[in-house]
Amino acid sequence: MHIDARQLPDHTVIEGDICIIGAGAAGISMALEWINTPYKIILLEGGGFEYEAAMQDLYRGKTTGQRYFPLESARLHYFGGTTGHWAGFCSTFEPIDFEKRDWIPHSGWPIKREDLDPFYARAHQNLDLGPYEYSYDYWAKTDPARVSLTFDKESLFNKIWQFSPPTRFGTKYKDAIVNAANIHLYTYANATDIQANENASVIEELTVKNLAGKQHTVKAKYFVLACCAIQNARLLLASNKQAPKGLGNDEDNVGRYFMEHLEIKSAEMWFPRLDPLRLYAVDFSKTKWRAELAITAKKQREYRILNGTASFTPLEVAKNQPAFIDIWKSSDPKEREKAFDKFGEVEKKANIKSGHKAYQMFTRMEQAPNPNSRITLDSERDALGMPRAMLHWELTLLEKHSLRGIYEIIGKEMGKTAKGRVRLLEYLQDIKDSSWPQFTGGGWHHMGTTRMGTDVKTSVVDANCQVHGIANLFTAGSSCYVTAAAPNPTLTLVALTLRLSDHLKRIAGNRV
Ligand SMILES: Cc1cc2nc3c(=O)[nH]c(=O)nc-3n(C[C@H](O)[C@H](O)[C@H](O)COP(=O)(O)OP(=O)(O)OC[C@H]3O[C@@H](n4cnc5c(N)ncnc54)[C@H](O)[C@@H]3O)c2cc1C
Repeated sequence: MHIDARQLPDHTVIEGDICIIGAGAAGISMALEWINTPYKIILLEGGGFEYEAAMQDLYRGKTTGQRYFPLESARLHYFGGTTGHWAGFCSTFEPIDFEKRDWIPHSGWPIKREDLDPFYARAHQNLDLGPYEYSYDYWAKTDPARVSLTFDKESLFNKIWQFSPPTRFGTKYKDAIVNAANIHLYTYANATDIQANENASVIEELTVKNLAGKQHTVKAKYFVLACCAIQNARLLLASNKQAPKGLGNDEDNVGRYFMEHLEIKSAEMWFPRLDPLRLYAVDFSKTKWRAELAITAKKQREYRILNGTASFTPLEVAKNQPAFIDIWKSSDPKEREKAFDKFGEVEKKANIKSGHKAYQMFTRMEQAPNPNSRITLDSERDALGMPRAMLHWELTLLEKHSLRGIYEIIGKEMGKTAKGRVRLLEYLQDIKDSSWPQFTGGGWHHMGTTRMGTDVKTSVVDANCQVHGIANLFTAGSSCYVTAAAPNPTLTLVALTLRLSDHLKRIAGNRV
C-alpha cells in the first residue's frame, strides 16, 4: 500500500517489523522479497514517484580532491532511485576481488565470491538479465561470428558483460510494491535522524521529515539503510545524539574508503587490417552482451595491480567523444539524457560491419580503498535541516601503476601474435608522472562508505551487513563494499541485498 507522508497528521507514529530506508535498487529489491510474508514492512522513500527539483536539491553537496560530477546530479532522489538513470551494464566480481591482496592496502572481504553466487543468480531476475552465465565459452557458442582476439589465457581473458534493458525500478516494481498489503510504502518520508538507546546498541526509532513541514516517527524491530552509499554514510554521521561521532562510527570509519571506478581512455590499439571486434561491441539488435579484455588473477598478482578491464571504441569515433566528466557538469540530472544520447548516437555509428583499423581502449578499473577518500558532513544544512554531504575523492599511486600494468600486459599479448599494436596515451607514458589528466572520471558508482569486515577497528558492518555493535541496524547497497572490482556495482549490490534479506528472514523468524 502507498501512503503520502505529507498527508498524514503531523507527528504520526508509524510502526512495523522492518523499516527499509530508501526505495532504489537495494531498497526495492529488499521489499520485494517480503511481499506476502507475515511481516509489516515499512518502505520509506524521501521523494515521490517523479523527479522534483526541490527533492533533488537535498542531494547537493561540495566536492574536493579529484574532480567529480556534481553530487546532486550523480544520483536520483525519488521512488526507483538512481535506476531512473543507470545504463544497465552488469557483470560479476571475480574470486580474486574478495581476497586479501598484499599489494592493495585495506583489501579482503569477509565473504567469498561463492557466497554470492546463488544471490547473483536471483539478482539476474530483478535486473532482467539473461542466463546467469559469464563464461566466454558459453556466450561464444550463442554467436560464433563474435570471435576473440588471440592471446595467452594465462594473461588475459574475455570478461562478459550483460546489459539490463535497463530496468527502471520505479516503473517496473511500482505496482508490485503499492499493491502488496504488507508493504507500507511512505513517499515524501525522508529519514533525517536515527535514534538509538542510551548506549547506542539498539535502534529505537527514526525521524522522517518532508518539505511540507511534517515530521513523523518510525518504530521497527529492524532497520535497513538502503539510501545509496553517500546517503547511508550521511545519515549515520548525522545521527549523533547517542553516539557523538555518529552511529557505527566509534572508530571513525563511516564515510571513509569512498570508492569510484576509474573510467578513463587509456590507450590505442592498431590492427594491420579492418577488424569489427564484434565480440567487444554491444550488439544492439540481439541479446545484450559483450566482452571486455580482462587481466587474469595470475597476472594481477605478478604485476601487483588493481583489477581492471579494457573496452574498445573506434578511434575516429572516440576522438569526437568528450569525457563524461566534461559534458555532464550540470547540476540538473535531466541533462543526462542529452549526454547519453550523444554517446548512444556515436556508439551506433561505430557499429560498422567491416570494422576499423584503430580503436581507443577505455579502462574500467577499481580504485584502491583509501581512508582519505571520504564522505563527511558540511556545516551547511539542507531544507530539512540535515547537514549536507561533502565528498573528498582521492586516488593513490597504485591506480596509475595499475593502469600502466594493464596495458603493458595487453600490449605484450598483442605483440606476441603481431595482430595488434598498443600505444599508451600520453598521460601514461612517463612512469614518474603521478598526475591525472583533466578527463579523469568515474562511472557514478559510489561505494565503500560503510565497509564490511570482521575487525570493528577497520570496518563498519559485519559479513551480514549489520552495523558493528548495533543489533538491529543493517546497511544494504554498495556502501558495504570493501573493494570495488572492475564491474559496475548494481548487480553485486542487489545480490548482497538479497543475501541480507535471507539473513533477516532467519533472524526475524526467531525474534519478530
Ligand atoms: C548516469 C548513471 C549511469 C549508471 N550506470 C550504471 C550501470 O550501467 N551499471 C551499474 O551497475 N550501475 C550504474 N549506475 C549506478 C546505479 O544507478 C547505482 O549503483 C544504483 O542505483 C544504486 O542503488 P541504491 O539502491 O544503493 O541507491 P539508489 O538507486 O540511488 O536509491 C536510493 C534511494 O533512497 C532514497 N533516499 C535517499 N536518502 C533518503 C532518506 N534520507 N530517506 C528516505 N529515502 C532516501 C532515494 O530517493 C532513492 O530512491 C549508474 C548511475 C548513474 C547516475
